[in-house]
Parts: sequence; C-alpha cells; structure tokens
Amino acid sequence: MVYFINTDPAEGKVKMSLPSMEFNQKRWNRLLLSGYWVTIFLSVLVELLYMLHASELPRSEFFPKYIALPTSLMFAAVLTAEASVRLLSPKWHDYVLISTASLLALIVTSIHTTLDYLLFFLCFPNMISIFYFQYKKLAFAIAATFASLFFLYAVIPEIHRSMSFIDLLCITVLLAIYSGIALGVLARGRETLRHLRSSYESNQELLVRNIMMDKLAKTDALTDTYNHMAYHEFVEKLVEQAEKGLLHLQIAVMDIDNFKKVNDTYGHRAGDNVLREVASIARSKVGPNDFVARYGGEEFVILFTELAYPAAFDTVEEIRRTVAETPHDSLGGLAVTVSVGVNRYVPGMGKERFFQGADAALYHAKRTGKNRTVAAETIDSGTAAASAAASVAASIARD
Ligand code: GH3
Ligand code: MG
Ligand code: MG
Repeated sequence: MVYFINTDPAEGKVKMSLPSMEFNQKRWNRLLLSGYWVTIFLSVLVELLYMLHASELPRSEFFPKYIALPTSLMFAAVLTAEASVRLLSPKWHDYVLISTASLLALIVTSIHTTLDYLLFFLCFPNMISIFYFQYKKLAFAIAATFASLFFLYAVIPEIHRSMSFIDLLCITVLLAIYSGIALGVLARGRETLRHLRSSYESNQELLVRNIMMDKLAKTDALTDTYNHMAYHEFVEKLVEQAEKGLLHLQIAVMDIDNFKKVNDTYGHRAGDNVLREVASIARSKVGPNDFVARYGGEEFVILFTELAYPAAFDTVEEIRRTVAETPHDSLGGLAVTVSVGVNRYVPGMGKERFFQGADAALYHAKRTGKNRTVAAETIDSGTAAASAAASVAASIARD
C-alpha cells in the first residue's frame, strides 16, 4: 500500500497524501536543529571579524548591540525549538523548525538595519520548508517570510526610512520569485516520488503475481497439496541437504486402497471428496517443514524433514489410523484405508532409490493385506527386490 486516499465525505474530494514524506523526519529535524546551532556560531564569527576589522564603532558599543544581543536572542530561539521538539507531538515539529528559521532570519535582519541585502535572509524559512516536501508547510513558510518582511518594514524605523516603496516592492517580488522556485522544486520532487512509487508498485504487483503463479504451478488443484512437479523439485534440494547431513529426510508413499471400487460404487465426484479429505488428514498431521504432495491419482508422497526415523513412522501410522477411522458422507458414512511405504534417506542413496525403497515397501503393504504401514528396512532383501520390481512395473503401467 503506497498511497493513502482519503475521501472527505463532506467535500466529496479525494486527497492524496504521501506518507513516506515523513520518512526519517526525526533525523532530518535533528540535522536542521544542529544546522541552526551552526548558523549561530557562524553569525558570531562573522560579527567578531566585522568588529575586529571593519567596524568603525567602538567595541564597547558594537559588542552588546551586534554580538551579545542577537546571539542571546538566537540562542533563546533555538533552545525553545529544542525544548518544543522534545515536548510537543511530532506533527508540530516541522512547524516549530520553520518558525525558528523565521525567527532567526528576523533577528539577523532587524539588528542589521543598514544592510538591506540581509533581507534576503528572510527566505530562510522557505528554504527550510522544502525539506518537508509538503505544500502546507511551504505555504506556512511563505506566509512567515512575507509577514516578517512587512513587520520589519512597518515596525523598524531605520528600515522604513532607508527603503523606498519601490525597494519594498522589488524585495517582495524577489521573495515571491524565490517562493515560486521553492514551490517548483517541491512539485518536481513530489512528481518524481509518485513516479518512483508507481514503478515500485508495479514491480511489487509483478512479484506477487509471479509468486502466485509459482504457487499455482506447484499446487494440485483438487487436494491443495503440492503436485508431482513440486515433489521432484523439493526432493532434489532436500536430498542435497541430507547428503551434507543437514537434515533427517524420510519419505512416505501412501496409496488409497481399492480406490477404483470407491469410484465405481459411489461415483467419481465422491472419489474426489475422499481424495480431498485424505489429503487434508495428511496435511493436518505433519509439521510445518514437511511436504505433502499428490504424486498422482490416489497416491500421495510425504517428505519429512525434521523428524527422526521412528517419529516419522509413528506420524505415518497416525495418518493411516485416522484415515481408517474417518467416515465419509459421500460414501454413506464408510471410511477408506490407505497403505503406506516408508523409507529413510541414507547418504549416497540418491533420490531414485530413496523413492523406490518406499514404493517397494508400499507394494509389500498392499500384498500383505493393505491398511498397513511398512518400513523399507524391515522387508528382507529378496522381498524388497521383488516388491521393487513389482513397483517399477506398476509405475511403468501408471505412466
Ligand atoms: P489398490 O488398493 O491396489 O491401490 O487398488 P486401487 O483400486 O486403489 O488402484 P487402481 O490403480 O486399480 O485404481 C486407482 C483408481 O484411482 C483408478 C482411477 O479411476 C482413480 N483415480 C485416479 N485419479 C483420480 C481422481 O482424480 N479422482 C477420482 N475420483 N479418481 C481417481
Ligand atoms: Mg490404490
Ligand atoms: Mg495407485
């Protein structure tokens, strides 16, 4: 979410605010406050140089009027700003800093009444307000600039005397031009930011769409588990990790028993419901880092990545038992059963032998009565070879 669009029902207007304009506001305000302290330091330095090398006034007269008085006033202004920033809510901080800039400009210009060019210093708040990239703050600063100018002209007799009406007009026009430039800088900055945001937004949309597409490509639509393709992708990566000894990897190949009969008796739609429910039982029993995939038809594969061997076997047994105890409305209240073959990954095994071991165990479970879980390592090598041959033959037939 990038823009906040606020509809004001009273006015029926749509206002657009750019929240990230406030990004790092605290840090920038701190920098500005430090800048004010530097401004005071520089002003004292310039006045000292002026007193020592340029002024014709005796130091006893120059020092209190041009150094002690303005410095203490500026000091008080910046100290007040420091305190306000600590005490007031952040929404006032920017205004405090713009007002302080205006005060500093007012102090400098009102003390040096003979130096007309210093009146340009009145633009100080305008310049400061650009930092905030907000029209209302710039408008506030422009108002402060012109209010200071007319205040000086009206209240300080020296300024009034030394400036003709035309001078005042010229300065007003020049300050107006500076304000216009500040407005332009601000508009350009906001436009650039909007542009950046919209391209950022479309990139984000693209990214989200890619993630969604990727998820869709890896998900089985009927059961909402991973699909065959995702299984192959994951097992490859997991086998790499298991080879390095970074995880316990186990596989369970689970097949619904007599599923053809379920379809033939209750219809394909009822069969689909059963597939969904069996998948949901399997998903509910495994951990967040385990994968359930529909390998094809009524056959599922589970990859366990965290459990040690006996725990994974127990989880599979729990799934098998729960499936056998869960009645299905679409089968008139009857349950189905599953047979499962489990195998654990041993370094050097490779993903094919890893799967085939579990598949051979599954075939053994089918041949020895179904509704059973068989661990690949519990079947003797002769039986395993026969089961493996049968499972390979069956998988060729499947494909
Ligand atoms: P076994 O106990 O030996 O596994 O027997 P079986 O009947 O379960 O196995 P068989 O391979 O003979 O039949 C599998 C059936 O699964 C055949 C097919 O119609 C059905 N099937 C495969 N995919 C789907 C599906 O997406 N939906 C439904 N409803 N049935 C499916
Ligand atoms: Mg089956
Ligand atoms: Mg099958």
